[in-house]
Amino acid sequence: MRGLMMDTPLLISSILRHADLHFPDREIVSVTADNPQHRYTYAECFRRTRQLANALDKLGLSQGDRVATLAWNDYRHLECYYAIGGSGYVCHTINPRLFPEQIAFIINHAEDKWIFTDPMFVPLLEKISEHTPQVEGYVVMTDDKTMPETSLKNAVSYESLISGERSDYMWPEFDENVAVALCYTSGTTGDPKGVLYSHRSTILHAYAGVAPDVLNLSNRDCVLPVVPLFHVNAWGIPYSALMVGAKIVFPGPKMGDGEALFHMLEDEDVTLALGVPTVWLALLQYADKAGKRMHKLQRTVIGGAAVPESMIREFGEKHGVVVCQGWGMTEMSPLGTANTPKAGMESMPRDELYALQTKAGRGIFGCELRIVDDEGQELPWDGVAYGALQVRGAWICSDYFKLEGSAESHTDDGWFDTGDVATIDENGYMAITDRTKDVIKSGGEWISSIEIENTAIAHPAVQEAAVIGVAHPKWTERPLLIIIKAEGQDVSKEEMLAWFDGKIAKWWYPDDVVFVDEIPHTATGKIKKVELRKQFANYELPTG
Ligand code: ADP
Repeated sequence: MRGLMMDTPLLISSILRHADLHFPDREIVSVTADNPQHRYTYAECFRRTRQLANALDKLGLSQGDRVATLAWNDYRHLECYYAIGGSGYVCHTINPRLFPEQIAFIINHAEDKWIFTDPMFVPLLEKISEHTPQVEGYVVMTDDKTMPETSLKNAVSYESLISGERSDYMWPEFDENVAVALCYTSGTTGDPKGVLYSHRSTILHAYAGVAPDVLNLSNRDCVLPVVPLFHVNAWGIPYSALMVGAKIVFPGPKMGDGEALFHMLEDEDVTLALGVPTVWLALLQYADKAGKRMHKLQRTVIGGAAVPESMIREFGEKHGVVVCQGWGMTEMSPLGTANTPKAGMESMPRDELYALQTKAGRGIFGCELRIVDDEGQELPWDGVAYGALQVRGAWICSDYFKLEGSAESHTDDGWFDTGDVATIDENGYMAITDRTKDVIKSGGEWISSIEIENTAIAHPAVQEAAVIGVAHPKWTERPLLIIIKAEGQDVSKEEMLAWFDGKIAKWWYPDDVVFVDEIPHTATGKIKKVELRKQFANYELPTG
């Protein structure tokens, strides 16, 4: 028997309509290229979004056409999200940190018709425009006064595009499984692959995100997403924050600027900030140097890479900020786990709690997790057995855009293989030990590069640490520790190796330590291990 409930489609335009009615006065604050502090209300945002939707409908697009953005986090980018997706087109967010050739590749692969760009990326687009001939026009996200001279085809300023448009718009209704947004993975191996989110997956993911044991997002919050709108929908914040009517602060191009972030947090009364470990390193370093304490921030969600215990402690003990580690992927919208305590854990000894917080967290409702061995057999949740981490759920990709059936990313029984290696403990807390391709295979056993890195980074003289496997005649591979020293600090190889005493298993100790000035990063700020492995391919480890 079927239930007798309304089959209301889950469309992102419904978030906008709800927020417009309930929270018209809530503020959105942005740093933009043409204004260091832009401030307006939800009501104003939605009025402009409707004007943009009217303008888009005049560009001759068909439903499902891709319209791209190449922009930092700010209010115009948010308007694009809703106007493009809400009116039935697909918002393709492009990561400006990719190499120009990769950007051209994904513009062509996505078959983008129009591109909305920040003024600072105009030269980049001009450089590749001869390779992207199918793009019909460009909208530069500024006004006519600050519109740069450009050779880009049909270039128009954002403000002039929307200025004459009506502020009412009838959001179309369609099937909730229609695509709303497209985001490419960074392509650390091979070409970038497109993940195509639907309205339905986006709404369900946003619902899951606001829950107390996930982002714990409410109307009383002020949110600072330092996670980019161009990468996995800023972890769903544009949808979840508007769903509850939280104030939003967008950092624009200031995402890596510790000082600027500190002032945004304090001046705007930010309660929740989200970002990858690297950006928080910059923030904590600034606060430490300037001798300042954060007074307003209550919690931070950190993910995208493993969070070192030293960072969790520093946030907690110096600034009174609770860290919630999360794990996810572009293919997962991205939320998969969140690390919040279970009942009874609040009274755990502090050191134990910190250790627990270094895990990626518990699977959130809507995202099933399992770990399997090489034969595909499920492994126990005992915190010791590790294997390939697989996931299943309504906001996890079922395939890649235009690679349907050929990506070999899913198991026969319909689970997505994440490419991560993990343990899951008795309480359901998952810990990533490595990416499948980064794990170090030593004498038939696996060594977790992440755990060695986290131990190394806790040393006060270490600014950044990376561990890779280097070929070894007897053990197949052994770990090599690569370090950038913290400014004004010194440490020797012997001191560094002695640091591991009692902290990790002896056979996991790195065989050697190299000090470098720079460690390569991917476009999403993660350590580029492929590059490091190439760089150190012929490295000879000391014998004996
Ligand atoms: P890419 O870096 O290829 O663009 P994503 O941004 O989707 O991909 O990153 C997903 C990957 O980031 C995960 O598969 C995992 O390896 C890593 N990751 C994300 N969160 C964490 C975490 N909390 N701990 C360790 N690794 C993480």
